[in-house]
Parts: sequence; C-alpha cells; structure tokens
Amino acid sequence: MSSEETVKSSNFIKKIIDKDNEDGLYSNKVHTRFPPEPNGYLHIGHAKSICLNFGLAEEYRGKCNLRFDDTNPLKESVEYVESIKKDVSWLGYDWGEKAFFASDYFPKFYEYAVQLVKQGDAYVCDLNGEQIREYRGTLKEPGRESPYRDRSVEENLELLERMRKGEFGTGEKVLRAKIDMASPNLNMRDPVIYRIAHAKHHRTENEWCIYPMYDFAHGLEDSIEGVTHSICTLEFEDHRPLYDWFLDKLGVFHPRQIEFARLNLTYTVLSKRKLIKLVEERFVSGWDDPRMPTIAGLKRRGFTPESIRSFADMIGVSKSNSTVDFAQLEYALREDLNKRAQRVMVVQDPVKLIITDYPEGKVEWLTAENNPENEEDGSREIPFSREVYIERDDFMEDPPRKYFRLAPGKEMRLKHAYYVKCVDYKKDANGNITEIHCTHDPASRGGWTDDGRKVKGTAHWVSAPHAVDAELRLYDHLFTKENPNETEEEGDFTDNINPDSLTVLKNCKAEPSLADVKPYLNYQFLRKGYYTSDPDSEPGKPVFNRTVSLKDSWAKKK
Ligand code: ATP
Ligand code: MG
Repeated sequence: MSSEETVKSSNFIKKIIDKDNEDGLYSNKVHTRFPPEPNGYLHIGHAKSICLNFGLAEEYRGKCNLRFDDTNPLKESVEYVESIKKDVSWLGYDWGEKAFFASDYFPKFYEYAVQLVKQGDAYVCDLNGEQIREYRGTLKEPGRESPYRDRSVEENLELLERMRKGEFGTGEKVLRAKIDMASPNLNMRDPVIYRIAHAKHHRTENEWCIYPMYDFAHGLEDSIEGVTHSICTLEFEDHRPLYDWFLDKLGVFHPRQIEFARLNLTYTVLSKRKLIKLVEERFVSGWDDPRMPTIAGLKRRGFTPESIRSFADMIGVSKSNSTVDFAQLEYALREDLNKRAQRVMVVQDPVKLIITDYPEGKVEWLTAENNPENEEDGSREIPFSREVYIERDDFMEDPPRKYFRLAPGKEMRLKHAYYVKCVDYKKDANGNITEIHCTHDPASRGGWTDDGRKVKGTAHWVSAPHAVDAELRLYDHLFTKENPNETEEEGDFTDNINPDSLTVLKNCKAEPSLADVKPYLNYQFLRKGYYTSDPDSEPGKPVFNRTVSLKDSWAKKK
C-alpha cells in the first residue's frame, strides 16, 4: 500500500467497512445513502455527509442512494426536493438512475407494522402525547406501562386498520413498539411507530393519514434499498439499539448503522429550524442569500464545488463533536480560487488620476495576463487612456515615511501600464481629493523598465472613459458571536445577528471586460479579494459578491 493509500483508508468508518469486507459480511458490497428530509435547503453540514457517503461509494466502487426521507407531510415540499437534487448534483455527485423516496415504501412499512402487531411486538395506544411523555419516565426512573399495552393481537390489528382508514382524529391513537418500559435507554421504552396526521403529503397526497416515525422508517428504508452502511450523525447513537431491534424483529436485511460527529462551524447556525426562521422572518434575502451556510448561498457567494469537497476532505470524520473555524472553510476556498479565478481590475472607491503628458483621445490596448497561476488562461487586452481611476487610498497628500504608493513627487506603478509620478492634485471645499495629476514614463510601458529603478508600489486602475459602473456586495459573518446558538440564559439566536453583515458599494469602476458578465463566475479583483458575479447582474450593470478576502487567517493558526 502506498503511503497515500494508507492515509486515505485511515478514517474510522473505512476501518469498519474494511473489517466487514474482510469478514465477508456484505459480500464485499458497499452501499451508502444520503437521506435528507425535504423540509429545507441543504447546508454545509449536509455537504459533509454528502461527500462522505458519495465519497465512500466512489472509493469502494459501490453505490450511494439519494433518498428523500419524506415521512412528515407537515413540513415537506416539492420545492425542497428540487433544491436538494440541484445542490447534490452541483456538488458533483451522481445518484444514478433514480432518486429514492421513503414515501414509495408506505405500503411496505404498513405491512411491517402489521407483522409486528401479529408477532405481539406492537400495540395501539390511546394515550396522548403528553401522557406518553409522562409515562416514559426519566433517566433516573423507569417508565410505566401503558394501560393499553396488553390489548390482544386481534384488537390491535383491527384498531390499526381503522387508524389507516381514517376513523380516528389526528393524535387520537398511535401504534407503539412493545419493548421495555424499564430500559435504561429511553428510546427503547415502547417508542411510537405510527401516528395519525390528516395532512396532504406532497407525493402520496391523501392516500395515507397515518405516517411512520423516523426510527421505525429509517432502518427499513435502508434495508429495502440494500444499504450496507447507514452513516448518520452522533445523536443517533442512542437510537441504534432501536434501529437494530426493528430489523431483527422483522427478520429483514440488516444494514450497519455508523455514527460520526456532525459539522459545526463558528459564526454559523446549521439547524434547519433556524435557517427557515432566517428566511421566513427576512433576516436574509432568501435561501440563497450569500450569507447563508446553505449550498445555494455558498454557491451564490462564490464557493466552488471543488472547494467544498476539499474542505470536507480536510476536516475528515471523527467520533467527537467539535466546532470548525469558519476561516478553515475560507482557506479551502482561497486555495481553489487562487488556481481558477481570473485576475481583473476594479476600483472600489474611485478618484480620478489624469496623466497630463498623455495625449487626449489616445487609447492604448495593453496586455494583461488572466491568471499568473495558470498560463492556459491566457491574456486579454485592457484599454489605457489619459484619465484613469485609482483607489482613493492609493494616494496620500502627506504620507508617512514608509508609504510606497502615490504622493506628491512620488512614483508608482500602474499595473500592466506605466510608472506615473504625481505632479499636482486638486481638492474640493471639504478637503477631499478630486483629481490627481501625474506624468508617465513612456519607457515603462507594460509596467516595468530595465533601468534598475525602484518603484515599490503597484496599483490597480481602470480607464475612466471605458469604465463600467459596478455594484459590489461585501459580506461579513451573519452573526457576531463565534457560537451564535442561543443558550438557556440568553434569548434567541437572532439576537446575535450582525447588523453590518452586508455593505453595498454602488459606485465602483470595473474594467470593460466585466460589462456583461454571466453569473457565478469567480474573479480575483487585484489587491482586493475574490469576487463572484451575481445573478442580479444586468447587461452593462454587473453586480459582484465578495467571496473572500485575499488574506488568509487560518493557515497561520494551524
Ligand atoms: P435538523 O437540522 O432538522 O436536525 P437534519 O439537518 O438532520 O435536520 P436531514 O435532512 O435529516 O436533516 O439530514 C440529512 C443527512 O445529513 C442526515 O444523514 C444527517 O445526519 C446529515 N447532516 C445533517 N446536518 C449535518 C451536519 N451538521 N454535519 C454532518 N452531517 C449532517
Ligand atoms: Mg435529521
């Protein structure tokens, strides 16, 4: 085995799979699944699970199903199903011929429920939700048995059938597994298998008014599909005995459940309930707001599928919960963008620079490389003229000693163009600089000379008559706290929203190649950061999202 392979096979899940293969448990088959409930958009935490499940299938030449765990009609919708498909496929994964739906197995689940009843392993219970909770007991005290626990098989079969037919109201009865009310594991204290909900399902419509509970349905979905390794997050560890119990009682194909630690990220919330609240209460502009940790939001912000996959690789999988620094996600992004982003020039806070010794009306087309990291990206021609915009802070009237940009009498390089020297400047009544006057050195065409002259500062610029007005949207964390989730003492997580998470700059000047951008293209604005064109762009009016700054704050921390 090469050292690279050793590293690759080192995560604990692979060790379990390798052992199962050695033992011939699943005849060397590896079949995983990604099982979202279509009750919200996918987020970066889901991406970790997607990369893990699809990644394992790829590595072991197995299969990974995309399965919608659509057993709760009250919260699910077709919009979510569609968004999930779109996001998984954007991440670069292929779920084969068809996506699976738990709702397709409703008839099968019902048969299994009947089987449990016939075996004396399940009963219909009339206690309501509150009573069931009360009877369940606590970690310290055993639960009490339901007064309905000893109903005969015949009575249970009849009641279950009547539940299915819709003879009872929502919540009036439930079907429960008959396990052990004294079990130290609360999940084993006669958990609910089916509940009544008179609600329209987005696929089965009004065919059913009883719906299976997650713990009952999930293992059966895995079993029906022939999943071998059912990978879920740590909070399901205590549910595993129940997962196993159903499969064993029913005597069906028995996948192995394996738990791993879910992803948490600093300055980020990753619970669907919270993300829905952000969208519904308009704290953000929608599911794809570039500040959202959703895949749709990350895409709009400028993340690439490759950067998300490489992040998932970097963080790996483990058995203990921890929180990943958001800066690490940005690091993965920067590494990828550095390779693929086109370098262009955009001035964010423009001030006019007039080259007094350059002929009026003259335009020179200068060659600018598109990406010094990748020669294949070629070059483009950019116009240069007598009047250009530079950044306001690239000029100082009265600079400190080590200031290498423009100042009266000082020389600076205009990237790809010329050395220019400041000979004069103008101010308005408020003392703001309105114009900077320079001369240029024709021998420095292209932005360099071979006379050994030292010009330390280099500025980006845009030819004024050719400039395109661009809107830039700059983002900061959506939350002010590293852990924005509410605690018991401190109110709602929305109290931690950062009021300055979005700054819009309307008056920016972009080089003309950016006039008619298509959305979702990654750029590096020289000296300013990585930016991505937004779908709000219109012809001649480009809009860009700041994806990430150039400066890394994570590699240093390592
Ligand atoms: P909720 O936020 O309501 O608890 P969920 O995020 O668990 O919901 P599911 O649709 O059930 O929603 O998730 C699909 C899969 O993604 C599950 O297998 C789940 O374990 C995994 N998953 C969800 N969140 C994370 C996370 N933060 N890190 C890793 N995996 C996750
Ligand atoms: Mg879940």
